[in-house]
Amino acid sequence: MCRKFSNDTLANVSPFLIKKVIDYTAGSEVETCKKLRNGNILIKTKNYNQAEKLVKLVSLSPTVHIEISEHTSLNLTKGVIHSNDLRGIKEEEILDELRNQNVTEVKKILKEENNDSLKEIGLIILTFSSISLPTEMSIGYEKIKIRPYIPLPLRCKKCQRYGHIEKICKNAKICPNCANEFHTSEDNAECVNIKSFVNCKENGIQTYNHNSYDQKCPIFVREKEIQVIITLEKVDRRKAISTYKERNQYSGPSYSAVTRNNSALYSQTQESPAQSSTVTKPINQQRQ
Ligand SMILES: [Zn+2]
Ligand SMILES: [Zn+2]
Ligand SMILES: [Zn+2]
Repeated sequence: MCRKFSNDTLANVSPFLIKKVIDYTAGSEVETCKKLRNGNILIKTKNYNQAEKLVKLVSLSPTVHIEISEHTSLNLTKGVIHSNDLRGIKEEEILDELRNQNVTEVKKILKEENNDSLKEIGLIILTFSSISLPTEMSIGYEKIKIRPYIPLPLRCKKCQRYGHIEKICKNAKICPNCANEFHTSEDNAECVNIKSFVNCKENGIQTYNHNSYDQKCPIFVREKEIQVIITLEKVDRRKAISTYKERNQYSGPSYSAVTRNNSALYSQTQESPAQSSTVTKPINQQRQ
C-alpha cells in the first residue's frame, strides 16, 4: 500500500486507522501488515479473496488517498528444470506452451565456451506466478522435477562487500584482487599483488590467499547459505542473517550440511547461473 496524491508517505498515519480500514475492506484480519522503511505498507493476506477486495481500496480517510497493488516479487517464485528435449526450442515458444502451468518467464542458462560462443546446458530458469513453487511439471507427456532457483550472493562491484549494489554504495572503492584501495587505473589493468579479499581480511579469517572471486571463500559460502534462507523462507536479508546466526550457534549440523543433503535444492556449483544474467562466465568475470 502506498500513499497517493500527497508528498507524505503512510509513515505517520495512525496504526489504528490502518487496521480498521484493512480489516473492514478485507472482511476479516489479514495475515500480517507492516510499515516499511520507505513509508509504504506491506500486507500479506490470508487468501486470494482478501487480496482481491483490498486492491480496490483507494483511501484510508477523506484526506488519505492510497493505492494497493500486487507485490512485484513476493508473489512470484523461480525454479530450475533440466530438460535436454527443450534444447533448440526458443524461449518464447516454451513460454507459450507452459503458460497454462502458471509460467510467466522462461530463461535458458547458457554457458560461455572458450571461443566466447554460448552453449545450452539443458537448464532453464522458470518464473511462476504463485507464492509456492510446484514440485514438478509436465513437458509434453513427460513429468519433470522443479528445484528452487537460488540466486548467487550479491557482491558490490565498488567496495566488494555483500548485500548491496554499486549504485547505492557509500564505501571506498576496493581492489577485488588484493583488498587494498582501488589502484588499477583502467578497467582491464591486472593487479599483480598477493591475492586478498576485503571481507575475510577484515574478519581476520583469511586462511589462504584468495581474491573476491574465490568460491571456496568461507564468507562466500556463508553468503550462499543466507541466499538459501532469503529465497526459500521469503525473508529479507536482515532476517536471513539473524536466522543464519541462530542456526549456527549450536554445535549441531550446520545449515549448509542440512541443505547439501536436500536433493530437491538447486545448489549452485560449476553450473551455477548468474543472478541477473543467464550467462555463466569464467570465474574471474563472474557477476559481482
Ligand atoms: Zn559497496
Ligand atoms: Zn589490487
Ligand atoms: Zn574469503
